[in-house]
Amino acid sequence: MSLKTRILSLVAVLIVISASASWLAYRELSEDIIERWGQQVAEIQVRYDSARLLQSLEREIGLARQMSQSSALIQWAKNPDDSGLTTEAVRQMESFRTNFRDNSYFVALRSNGHYYYNNAENEFADNQFRYVLDSEKPEDAWFFQLIEEGRDFHLNVNPDEELGVTKLWIDMLMRDEDGHIIGMVGSGLKLDDFLQDIVDINQEGITTLFVDYNGAIQLYRDRNYIDFASIIKPEGQKNTVALLFDETPDKQKILGMLQMLKKRNGEEGAVESGFVMVDGKKHLAGVAFLPAIGWFEITLLDLNALLPTSYLWPLIAVFLVSLLVTLILFHLIIQSRILKPVLSLEQGVQRLRDGRFDLPYLPKPDNEIGRLVDHFEKMTTALRDTTHDLENKVAQRTEELHKLARIDALTGLKNRRGLDEVIATSIQKSQRENKGFGLIWLDIDYFKAINDSRGHQAGDEILRNVAQWLKTSVRPYDHPGRWGGDEFVVLLSPCDQITLEQIACRIRASVEQESKYTGSPFTISVGGYFCKPGDSLDTILRNADQALYEAKHSGRNRVCIRTADGEAVHTA
Ligand code: GH3
Ligand code: MG
Repeated sequence: MSLKTRILSLVAVLIVISASASWLAYRELSEDIIERWGQQVAEIQVRYDSARLLQSLEREIGLARQMSQSSALIQWAKNPDDSGLTTEAVRQMESFRTNFRDNSYFVALRSNGHYYYNNAENEFADNQFRYVLDSEKPEDAWFFQLIEEGRDFHLNVNPDEELGVTKLWIDMLMRDEDGHIIGMVGSGLKLDDFLQDIVDINQEGITTLFVDYNGAIQLYRDRNYIDFASIIKPEGQKNTVALLFDETPDKQKILGMLQMLKKRNGEEGAVESGFVMVDGKKHLAGVAFLPAIGWFEITLLDLNALLPTSYLWPLIAVFLVSLLVTLILFHLIIQSRILKPVLSLEQGVQRLRDGRFDLPYLPKPDNEIGRLVDHFEKMTTALRDTTHDLENKVAQRTEELHKLARIDALTGLKNRRGLDEVIATSIQKSQRENKGFGLIWLDIDYFKAINDSRGHQAGDEILRNVAQWLKTSVRPYDHPGRWGGDEFVVLLSPCDQITLEQIACRIRASVEQESKYTGSPFTISVGGYFCKPGDSLDTILRNADQALYEAKHSGRNRVCIRTADGEAVHTA
């Protein structure tokens, strides 16, 4: 995997890790915020719904209380058979009827169980006495139960089969001056209208219901759950609020909240709240006790409906886009600031390793890598200069060694190897141009004796002198050299037979003459050979040596030239 891929993968992994951590933290935080917010909303909603319920009931309850305290009704209840009191009582009832919102009322007397009723349509004008309550009839049980309980005020959701209406009944006990229960009065509100106005308020995600002191459902948008006439039902058979919840812990939680509020005993504004599952969805339940009516108000908030998670999609989209943008930016920065310079540097190092000093363009970002590249460039330049320097020195030294290997150390003339090379070159040239050239071979006469008598140093001096005289005796393009010992060779090219003889003679005479000036005269014997095109090195050397030999044997201090056709020419 390339460095770039690895860095980008690492960055992506790190971003995803930190984003996941942020996401989890966000979830925790947002759930906490939603929970706090939900609790506040639940509390506000509970108070609002309670207020609405109480507002719409308060007047009716007040009227019912007023009716229960009406002296005309109380006197009549004590003497129900008194026709005068009855007429007055009915008149009183009818005046209350016009005041009740529902324009209906009921009055039930304890002494004879007579039940009086009239409705908005004034259907029972002059016929308000409807029927006699029977403690044996289940549908009349509510009356006897409430009297037995002795609670002055009670709200009851109950279908009145006799009258054919289902109403929210406001039941108010009627007492005489001594406090004895003598009957019951009240009014009703049409359940459907009430549910529509107060309970089924069509706010998405918010469900409101009212339960009685024991948790039995009294007002709920789904009538099937309403525990009608719960007053007369034994415990265990009631439709309690627990029915709404899926899980047992939630049922216990809600009932626990009711208990808690009962303990707080109608504390002003007391609200309990907690999370519960309803229809498989998480809800926040807020519960408040309404001491005025002895009911609980429960508000269920579907948080997902109130604050759908789809709201979070833009947040996720922003996160993903910023992740992408971050990766692209990071890629561009890494690419230009690190990867590109590092890759170019790698190419530069590779090139240098191959011995090439012409570096490609190396980007230098303003960071450690840029400085490294700068150092590398300077190091390359220094290395290039040093290498060139060394190469030059080696070439120079090689050339010097090449020359030294071809120079005689004592005399500074060409040595035998140098002579071999120039003779070989001349042989080739002679063949190419079909022209001959001359070779002179000379040897100092009785040199051994000179050495012996005057010492080796003096002998060396003589050798150097001969070399010097040879140089001055020949033309610049001729090649004098020391063959070895006291033997010298001179290559004359271009040359002809006559020139060869002239130069050979001149050399011999020059040595003889010059040596006299040194105070130690000596002579040389000279052999010469005029080489013809096609002669081999061996032939040439042999002929020259032969000529020298002849010069020696003819008395020394002589010149003997051998011609190409084998003749020997002797000169003094
Ligand atoms: P000839 O006339 O027959 O040439 O007699 P010669 O004594 O010169 O005999 P030869 O040429 O054979 O002797 C060469 C002598 O040169 C032998 C050696 O002692 C001497 N010699 C050779 N190389 C050197 C050198 O580099 N320096 C000195 N001083 N003497 C050398
Ligand atoms: Mg000699």
